[in-house]
Amino acid sequence: MINPYPGLPEFDYIKPASLTEASQFLAQHAGEARPLMGGTDIFVRMRDRAWTDKYLVDVKGLDGMSAISFDSASGLTVGASVNMNQVMAASEVQTYYPLLAEAAGKVASYQLRTRATIVGNICNASPAGDTTGACLLLGGVLNVHGERGRRQEALGTFFLGPGMTVLQAGDIVTSIQFPLPAPGMAGKYIKLGRNRSSDLAIVGVTVVGYPDHTIPSGYRMKLALASVAPVPLVVGQVEAILAEKAISVHTLNEASQVAMEACNPIDDVRASARYRKMMVRNLSLKALKEVWEKMSQ
Ligand SMILES: Cc1cc2nc3c(=O)[nH]c(=O)nc-3n(C[C@H](O)[C@H](O)[C@H](O)COP(=O)(O)OP(=O)(O)OC[C@H]3O[C@@H](n4cnc5c(N)ncnc54)[C@H](O)[C@@H]3O)c2cc1C
Repeated sequence: MINPYPGLPEFDYIKPASLTEASQFLAQHAGEARPLMGGTDIFVRMRDRAWTDKYLVDVKGLDGMSAISFDSASGLTVGASVNMNQVMAASEVQTYYPLLAEAAGKVASYQLRTRATIVGNICNASPAGDTTGACLLLGGVLNVHGERGRRQEALGTFFLGPGMTVLQAGDIVTSIQFPLPAPGMAGKYIKLGRNRSSDLAIVGVTVVGYPDHTIPSGYRMKLALASVAPVPLVVGQVEAILAEKAISVHTLNEASQVAMEACNPIDDVRASARYRKMMVRNLSLKALKEVWEKMSQ
């Protein structure tokens, strides 16, 4: 189809000098201004006239936004403007949070990842976001600067619907932080797309697991799904089943069936709802088995 809108609409580029100034500007222009990070979602939506913001507020260079740091007590902090290639290349991420690097590596192409950020992926709140499952299961918490100062938002309660989050006008996510991974943690992200690059997920399955001697099975396993519900979906029942029952091919099958039943996909240009459901079951089993094998090595 020929794009009827070949260029971007006019907008004003705003570059505030501080987070306070940025939050004030965004709050004063609620509904007509948004924070600009890599712009890989924003410019597509503006080109298509789905978004008609008068102002893009460039917050990339503000306080702490471009830093990535690791502390052996408190974990990893990824500044909001750290791009996905930088996340993948960081030695702390490769050593302690390889799942985050794996998920980021499934986003489009190298070129796109030089702009796209993890925080942008989260704030865009697409149910198909490739990094949201890893961020949820790794216990990600967002540091937010708003009109009334700083606060934290846990990712578990962040997503309200497609494109909708708890963020209010004036809110700017400055970074995402992750606690130290549990000892022996393993993870896997499987993305099913129509091709190997530059397409959103038809289905995305993220799994983490780690030994936990306080529960009957001895292993804590968690699963999140992308592209099969209005928000990124953590299927709590998978964790419950695999905590209670000894882990075997039988219980992993049961958990995969539960994941399939928990999701509520739609038919769209990428796939039918029925196909998505079946692939949730198959890919959940594959990811659970792989994490189980890694944990028990
Ligand atoms: C060709 C192409 C291929 C793509 N392929 C994939 C893919 O395979 N997988 C995938 O998941 N995504 C894909 N995307 C979507 C996009 O690249 C990602 O969602 C990316 O992570 C967005 O990050 P960004 O920094 O570019 O965000 P931006 O476009 O700058 O922002 C996205 C949204 O988040 C808000 N926002 C950004 N930063 C903040 C902040 N700090 N505080 C508050 N709000 C903020 C913005 O205001 C905007 O509403 C693709 C996009 C394109 C154009």
